[in-house]
Amino acid sequence: MSGLPSDPRLNAEFSPNPRIHPLRSGRAPWSDERPPLPILELRGGAGCDVVIVGAGITGAFAAEALTRQGKSVLMVDRSFPGRGSTAASTAMLLWEIDTSLVELAERYGFTKASMLYGRCLAALRELGELVSGLAIDCNFAARPSLYLAESDAQPDSLAAEQEARLRANLPSTHLSMAELQQSFGMSRPAALVVSGAAEADPVRLANGLLHRSFERGARLVADAVVDYQFAQNGAAAVLASGAVIEARHIVLATGYDMPSFVPSDLHRIVSTWCIATLPQAEARLWPHRALVWEAADPYLYARFDSQDRLLIGGEDAAISVADARESLMPEKAARLVQRMRGLQPQLEFDVSHSWSAAFGETADGLPLIGRVPRAPQAIAAYGYGGNGITFSYIASRMIAAIVAGEERQWFSDFALDR
Ligand SMILES: Cc1cc2nc3c(=O)[nH]c(=O)nc-3n(C[C@H](O)[C@H](O)[C@H](O)COP(=O)(O)OP(=O)(O)OC[C@H]3O[C@@H](n4cnc5c(N)ncnc54)[C@H](O)[C@@H]3O)c2cc1C
Repeated sequence: MSGLPSDPRLNAEFSPNPRIHPLRSGRAPWSDERPPLPILELRGGAGCDVVIVGAGITGAFAAEALTRQGKSVLMVDRSFPGRGSTAASTAMLLWEIDTSLVELAERYGFTKASMLYGRCLAALRELGELVSGLAIDCNFAARPSLYLAESDAQPDSLAAEQEARLRANLPSTHLSMAELQQSFGMSRPAALVVSGAAEADPVRLANGLLHRSFERGARLVADAVVDYQFAQNGAAAVLASGAVIEARHIVLATGYDMPSFVPSDLHRIVSTWCIATLPQAEARLWPHRALVWEAADPYLYARFDSQDRLLIGGEDAAISVADARESLMPEKAARLVQRMRGLQPQLEFDVSHSWSAAFGETADGLPLIGRVPRAPQAIAAYGYGGNGITFSYIASRMIAAIVAGEERQWFSDFALDR
């Protein structure tokens, strides 16, 4: 594929967006250990079936799926793998989408909405099987998730959502105020509790997937992609070093830093804030270590990690400038503590970590995954909202199918230009 024509409409000036960088500030409690990586030194150029740009959780799932298919894969990351947004994630692995089933059904019809929910439920089951099949040590654990009504909501505020979930055969149970108080010691007008969710350490999950991919021959190039070139049957990624990687497909797993030729009408970058406490005494933990999230705007979510630290996040705001986001950290941390104390006053709120990050979401709560309209050799995956890791897994299945020439009708649900 040498001599690929360089199309000036497509070739992006691909430097980090100065408004949203750094993508995260402060520190999440995940380990910062840096396992040895098979770094490939490129002199001039290289070729492969698929080049994956970005070695966060999206790139890691994609590399695992593609190398299992026997594809030759080169990954390119401008920083250490898994240290982008993935290192900021609270890694609540939910099959419930940010947009409720009722709202999604209003937008797309009940059949399509329930299939989308069912797809996420199945994805989490498969993700768990993958983690255990590959023996990835990432504190993966199945958990229930608890979706709380807002404190001033009507007692029947979640009834329609529960009814829709049952109609869609989803494993959801409605709790009245009294039942919620009795089962979880939380005071809200109502809640929905579901099985099938999970938690993990996101950095160790990404590292584990990368490790398996490297064992199967994938290699990492430690460089930044600064330009792209596309032709009829292939594409090339141009690196800052001047080296060029030619491939049949380019996977754009660059998180919230998509090149400008990837359409983004549905996508917006907001800011989000998180804190972690010191480990809690076991007697203070709420039952079943459920993943808790709230039907409020701005919303609140929380879980315990494997060391019994309470992770609390939310308070999202429409701010895309990193400086403004960082300056709000003390105020947002205090607000997260105040809101959680209102829900569970028995917890200790000695904050050990606080961090803020850019966060990408879409108007309908569905991710953007698929071929890039004007550059079909490029496949982009981003815009996941709060279900980042579930959607990253789904993206990897779609990417593997597209590369194998097995596109399915339902892929259009996530199309970049839907
Ligand atoms: C605070 C916070 C909490 C979250 N909580 C949850 C949660 O509880 N559950 C959940 O499922 N999801 C959650 N998410 C979402 C989830 O974490 C993200 O969707 C996911 O981590 C995105 O992973 P990624 O691999 O797509 O991007 P990233 O992890 O950002 O990886 C992108 C990689 O691409 C590299 N890169 C970018 N541009 C280039 C270039 N030009 N050349 C070379 N390399 C490049 C970067 O260096 C980076 O390593 C949360 C996100 C945040 C920010």
